[in-house]
Amino acid sequence: MFIALDDTDSTEGMCTTYLTCLILRKFKEINLIADIPNLVRLNPNIPYKTRGNGACWFHIDDNNLSGERKKEIKTIVLDLLKKYSRFEDENTNPACVFLDDENFKINFEILNKFYKKAVSELCTIEEADEISGKINATAYKFKNGRGIVGCLACLGCDFSDLTYELLIYRTEENFGKERMIDEESVFEMHKLLYPGTYDNVNEEEHKLVFMPHGKDPILCGIRGNSIEVVNKAFSLIKFNEEISFTRIFRTNQHTDAHLMFKKISELKQYDAAIVAGTVIENPKRIAKGHTFFKISDGTATFTCAAYGVTRLKNIAFNLVKGDKVRLYGGIESHKDTFNIEKIEILELAKIYKKENPVCPNCKIRMKSEGTNKGFQCKNCKLRLKNDAVKFIEVPRNLKQEIYEVEPGHRRHLSKQLCRYKI
Ligand code: ATP
Repeated sequence: MFIALDDTDSTEGMCTTYLTCLILRKFKEINLIADIPNLVRLNPNIPYKTRGNGACWFHIDDNNLSGERKKEIKTIVLDLLKKYSRFEDENTNPACVFLDDENFKINFEILNKFYKKAVSELCTIEEADEISGKINATAYKFKNGRGIVGCLACLGCDFSDLTYELLIYRTEENFGKERMIDEESVFEMHKLLYPGTYDNVNEEEHKLVFMPHGKDPILCGIRGNSIEVVNKAFSLIKFNEEISFTRIFRTNQHTDAHLMFKKISELKQYDAAIVAGTVIENPKRIAKGHTFFKISDGTATFTCAAYGVTRLKNIAFNLVKGDKVRLYGGIESHKDTFNIEKIEILELAKIYKKENPVCPNCKIRMKSEGTNKGFQCKNCKLRLKNDAVKFIEVPRNLKQEIYEVEPGHRRHLSKQLCRYKI
C-alpha cells in the first residue's frame, strides 16, 4: 500500500516530513515496517507553498494484510493527520491518498506524467481529482483539499536521479527556540565529506546553512548522495540540544527535476524551465543589487532577474548585449520575470574600447580634436584622420561555464555543480 501526505504545515509550525515520521513510529509500535520514506519536492514557483513545496509518501507491503489491518492503517494515518495538521492556517489544505500496489503498478505512467507537470508547472485540484478517480486511489481531502495535488504528484516521482536527506528532529519543548549545533564540528565534517554531502555550510560567509529558521520541528537536514554519507556526517556533528529522533528520506532534491527545456514563447507563469537566448539589452541594476536584463531566442523576449542576495547578481551584471546564455530558473507568482537559479555562458560577445592613436614620430598618445575631427600630436603637431582610432578588445571577466548560487540560497531541487559529474 502506498500512502501519500501533503499540505499539513504552516509557517507557524509542523512539517509534512514530521507527520510522516510520527505515522511510521506508530506503525512500528504495531509491527508494521515501512520502506524508506520519500520526500518529493514539487514546483518551487507555485504560490500555495509554505516553504519548499515538499510532499511525502511511503510504502508498506500489503500482501498479507487483512481488511481489518488495512482499516487500522487508515485510521492511524487519518487520526495523526487530523491531530497535527495546521488547519487554522488559511493556506493549509491537507490531503492524504492511499493506493494499493496493483493500482500503483498499472497506473504509474499516469502518475509519472502528473508528477512531471507538477514539478515544473501549475496543476489544478480538478486535474488531481480526475487522476485519483482514474487510478482507484482513496483520497481524503480537508478544507479545499489542495494537498491532493502534491499527494498524487509525489507518487509519480520516478527518482531517475536521487539524493538522500537525514532529517534531525527537535524535542517539542525546543520548537521555536534557537537551534543549538556546534558550528566547528559541521565545518570539520564538511572538510571530510564534501561533495558527498553538501549545502551544510557557506564557506565564504562561514555560517551553517543546513538549518531551517522557523518554528518547525526540524533541527537540521543533512543532504547527500548516499545513505552512508549522510549517516557518517551525522555521526561527526556535535549537537548541543536534545535530539528527538532522526529519519532518512529518499528525495528528488538537487536533481534539477523541475527544469524543462522551453522556448521563451512557451513560458507560462509559475513555470520552472531552462531557456537559451541572446542578451539583447545590457543589464540594469536596482536597489540591493537586483539585476535585470532581457534575452531573446527568436521566438520571444523575456526579462530575467538575478536577485541581490546571491553572487549571481554580479555574474548577471557583467553580461553584455550579444552574449549567448542558457538560464536555469522559473517564473514566480505575479512577476513577469524569469528568476535565475544558474547561468550558463554559451558564448561571450567581444567588447572593445576606443583608444586614441600613438604619434608615429613622438611615440606619445595623440589628442582628440573633437567628435569626428581626428587627432593631433601635441608635440610635433602631426594630424591624423578619425579612422586612426584604435579598437582594443576588453578582456571579459566571465568564462564559458555554469555559475550557480552559493549554498544557503539554493532551491531544494536545484542541482549543484558538484553533483554534475554523477
Ligand atoms: P513544507 O515544505 O514545509 O512541507 P510546503 O512548502 O511543502 O511546505 P505545502 O504546505 O505542501 O507547502 O503546500 C503546497 C501546496 O501546493 C499543496 O497543497 C500542494 O498540493 C500544492 N501543489 C504542489 N505542487 C503544485 C503544482 N504544481 N500546482 C498546483 N498546486 C501544487
